[in-house]
Amino acid sequence: MGPKEQSETLISAFCLYRTVMTDPIQVRGVRGLPLIHAGDDVAALICEREPVENGDILCVASTIYSKSKGYTKSLKEITPGERAIRLGGLNGEDPRFVQAVLDASTDIIMEHPFILSELSFGHVGVRAGVDQSNIEDGMVIFLPPEPMKAAEDLRKQILEISKKNIGTIITDTCGRSFRRGQTGNAIGWSGMTAIRDFRGDTDLFGHVLKITEEAVVDEIAGFANMVMGESNNGVPAVIFRNIPAWAGHDNLYFKGDEDITRRVLKKEWK
Ligand code: GDP
Ligand code: MN
Ligand code: MN
Repeated sequence: MGPKEQSETLISAFCLYRTVMTDPIQVRGVRGLPLIHAGDDVAALICEREPVENGDILCVASTIYSKSKGYTKSLKEITPGERAIRLGGLNGEDPRFVQAVLDASTDIIMEHPFILSELSFGHVGVRAGVDQSNIEDGMVIFLPPEPMKAAEDLRKQILEISKKNIGTIITDTCGRSFRRGQTGNAIGWSGMTAIRDFRGDTDLFGHVLKITEEAVVDEIAGFANMVMGESNNGVPAVIFRNIPAWAGHDNLYFKGDEDITRRVLKKEWK
């Protein structure tokens, strides 16, 4: 293919792209939500403040979902065991907090300088995603134990309240390897696949893509997390409109030996 044909191919590809991407994507933080406590109906509180449309994607911070379901604990109720006392000393953390992290973990991948945990649903997170911020002093917030079900429940509740069929993502702010700074990740999702699978698709030059699986739920969660902010913004929910649909699969988490980084870290800590 000569340069002229190549540029024609590029132009026709971009025209096609434009016809697929119709309306501009809109992103809105849900403002005016109260401080959330156990028993609060998060779906209803969101719908009262911000209308949703069919096809919208609603991101909800795991923090408020967990507070609404009572996935919280007072440090006073926690008696640290031997490992929590040892790791608390090693990492300079309250052993009761460390015990909460151990309780939330199914596997400890790294002990120091911070605990890196695997959770039952496949997520790997610093301190098992247990938070001490945006809750009263002396309390901890756990990630929802079944975040996929949490996202599904929220989606169904919103369908019931608003009669609108939307997608939902439960987010959490997470650290990452190799780069400084935290970003939002999807912890649970419903009404979409986690991954947009590009394998078998061809690029602008006709090359067949062999490995590209785009973690769309994490990309959306990342933007939502930016709109939420981290401290006292008070915006724990974000609505996306006009995101084009995608197809793929839900195998977001590496399983067992697939995860090379985890294998290396586990060897280090044996
Ligand atoms: P995480 O990323 O799920 O751990 O949640 P964060 O603690 O970072 O909070 C995300 C956003 O939700 C921030 O804008 C917080 O200020 C806000 N937020 C947290 N808890 C509440 C709450 O109970 N009510 C309201 N209105 N906002 C909250
Ligand atoms: Mn968090
Ligand atoms: Mn956050």
